[in-house]
Amino acid sequence: MEQVYNFCAGPAMIPADVMKKAQQELINWNGLGTSVMEISHRGKEFIAVAKQSEQDLRDLLAIPDNYHVLFCHGGARAQFAAVPLNLLGEADTADYIDGGYWAHSAAEEAEKYCQPNIVGIACERDGKKAVLPASEWALSDEAAFVHFCPNETIDGIEIRDLPKTDKPIVADLSSTILSREIDVSQYGVIYAGAQKNIGPAGLTIVIVRDDLLGKARKELPSILDYSVQVDKESMFNTPPTFAWYLAGEVFKWLKSIGGVAEMEKRNMTKAKVLYDYIDHSDFYRNDVHADNRSLMNVPFQLKDPSLDALFLEQADAAGLKALKGHRVVGGMRASIYNAMPLEGVQALVDFMRRFELENS
Ligand code: PMP
Repeated sequence: MEQVYNFCAGPAMIPADVMKKAQQELINWNGLGTSVMEISHRGKEFIAVAKQSEQDLRDLLAIPDNYHVLFCHGGARAQFAAVPLNLLGEADTADYIDGGYWAHSAAEEAEKYCQPNIVGIACERDGKKAVLPASEWALSDEAAFVHFCPNETIDGIEIRDLPKTDKPIVADLSSTILSREIDVSQYGVIYAGAQKNIGPAGLTIVIVRDDLLGKARKELPSILDYSVQVDKESMFNTPPTFAWYLAGEVFKWLKSIGGVAEMEKRNMTKAKVLYDYIDHSDFYRNDVHADNRSLMNVPFQLKDPSLDALFLEQADAAGLKALKGHRVVGGMRASIYNAMPLEGVQALVDFMRRFELENS
């Protein structure tokens, strides 16, 4: 089979070793003569998967004991509603740091439940897209929590600052979880859809600090209630068992290659190879300031957008898939999550160089 590199922003590549293992054990998992998708989530075999995957994630992120790890449904967007409904309590506002498309979407959902203080932080630096430093974010005294999205998947913007606050910090890590080291103890809630750095779509990881439980609004659906999910060990209803199992395999793979610290090094190398090439070329450009460039999602534009369609067609034929930028930004976007090997980024750069030579 031709070598294919998939640059999709999500659902995204899953490590090749994990896919091979899943294929081998698909119809006879653990010697049971059946697949992991076809067994009860309450049986001892699946409970063992659930426990091991949680432990592996705890090890990978050094999650302190006073945090619960939940394996939920609904994607990150379900959390856009779950977060305010679980955390507002009596408060009527929360700070929503708005650094791009996804943070803004979360704030819009929160408007159904409170009056979010939407803190615009987008700015321009040296003619490039950037965000204001945390010292300039206008937070409100009444906020129940501060929500932000450290990696904006569509805009290709990364926010490295944490909000300067003593309120619980809530972070949408959908497109950056496990890509770089973080200190979980600085957050109140972390959530992430699985379909980028964790596994298949359909699973959402929520990491919630113990003292934030018990503030849920009455109208909160039980399925989104963190306290219910903690009590039921993420099995209030039938969880997405296959996605959970595969996520567990991705965690094992990540541990086997040296964990998040090693992954971060590899991700920095990959991103540098791509940004360096874009920066040295007059044919391509990336509009994000170096301080805020995403390690995971690299949008880039051709100087002559009339060549976009040809670029995408030829890239696809060369096995470089799903490079079309999001319609909001246009141009191209290469998502280079954990599962993308350096060779994939090098293959992309080689193709970009060839295309430039042939079309300048
Ligand atoms: N937040 C971020 C940062 C995302 O990238 C996405 C999906 N691309 C979402 C939220 C929405 O995720 P889901 O489709 O899982 O609801």
